[in-house]
Amino acid sequence: MKPFDVYPLQKITPVKATGTRLLDDKGVEYLDFYGGHAVISVGHSHPVYVEAIQKQLDNLGFYSNSVLNPLQIELAERLGIISGYPDYQLFLVNSGSEAVENALRLASFHTGRKKVVTFHGAFHGRTSGSLAVTDNRKYRSAFNVDHEVAFVPLNDREAVTSQLEARDVAAVLIEGIQGMAGVVEPSDDFLQFLETECAKHGTMLVLDEVQSGFGRTGKFFAHQHAAIRPQLITMGKGMGNGFPVGGVMIHPDIRPEMGMLGATFGGNHLACTAVLSVLKAMIAENMMQQAEITGAYAKSKLASLQGLKEVRGRGLMLGIEFAFPVKQLRKLLLDEGILTGNSSNPNVLRILPPLCITIDEVDMLIEKLEVVLNKITMDILENSPPWRG
Ligand code: PMP
Repeated sequence: MKPFDVYPLQKITPVKATGTRLLDDKGVEYLDFYGGHAVISVGHSHPVYVEAIQKQLDNLGFYSNSVLNPLQIELAERLGIISGYPDYQLFLVNSGSEAVENALRLASFHTGRKKVVTFHGAFHGRTSGSLAVTDNRKYRSAFNVDHEVAFVPLNDREAVTSQLEARDVAAVLIEGIQGMAGVVEPSDDFLQFLETECAKHGTMLVLDEVQSGFGRTGKFFAHQHAAIRPQLITMGKGMGNGFPVGGVMIHPDIRPEMGMLGATFGGNHLACTAVLSVLKAMIAENMMQQAEITGAYAKSKLASLQGLKEVRGRGLMLGIEFAFPVKQLRKLLLDEGILTGNSSNPNVLRILPPLCITIDEVDMLIEKLEVVLNKITMDILENSPPWRG
């Protein structure tokens, strides 16, 4: 048997990683400005994380949700306080897609409605419901198409209002910052408008913070820059620093009923331990504040690169848009020992490093970007010099 071949691969084989650095099977070191899709938050093999998981594994790796699990209670308490939502409830799953799927189910249970409004460029996952609210027809099979979903332009108030007026919309679902679309931000006042407009029409506001959450943008959740309080918040990726875990934070008005939701692996002992250790390391090392400072430094430095169209994003979730496709640029950066991400916009380089990345490492990225951009410019001049017309 072979792996099902569905991923475009970067041609390296990492075998070890520490902090912000990856080592491949040939002993070559890479600086990780991608964090494996924004997953590595507190750093590869963070000692607090490794020790906590090892210790938990020695005691009890797994038991299902059929017994008492004090780790879940401790996690809900800590997460509630650190994120600024102490009165919310926590439901734990294993991935971002599952978090979105369950948040939409809760919105539907609570409102008795079915329809979801979401946005052009949205990516919310690949389970049936989360795929139906993802703005990419290519990913959808016939099996996925019967959900009632409306896609409207981001930051377009009238388009949202015209959808909500019929009072049949269960949820408005929006990413804190759109990641897959190439780091595209809803404006703060648009998020504030959504909060008010949803309340007016009995619709749940669901913030997908799977990519933009867990400290990445300098606040615990990206939507907190706009000072709003959604009814449902989804999490994943950086939550477990590589341990597969996702979650939904649920407004206290949404009441649980037995059997409403469920997951075999969700909230197991190892997963809770992983998330608790992420929170511990993040707080002890001030990583949220660091992400804000380092991200702002990176953004200002990146703004002076040649061939640049725009730098977008907040904290350590940055999109660098060039006037040309970045495929070759990414490959050349990899040759220089720098891992970066792409997006559905071919001209955007996505920067999602571990939150412990340093200013010196940002300088290394800029230096390598300059080298690579010079190479690309030389290539263009040699192959099609402007004087040739
Ligand atoms: N929501 C957002 C905003 C995401 O970026 C992603 C993953 N790229 C998902 C949901 C799905 O998460 P997962 O791949 O863990 O299911």
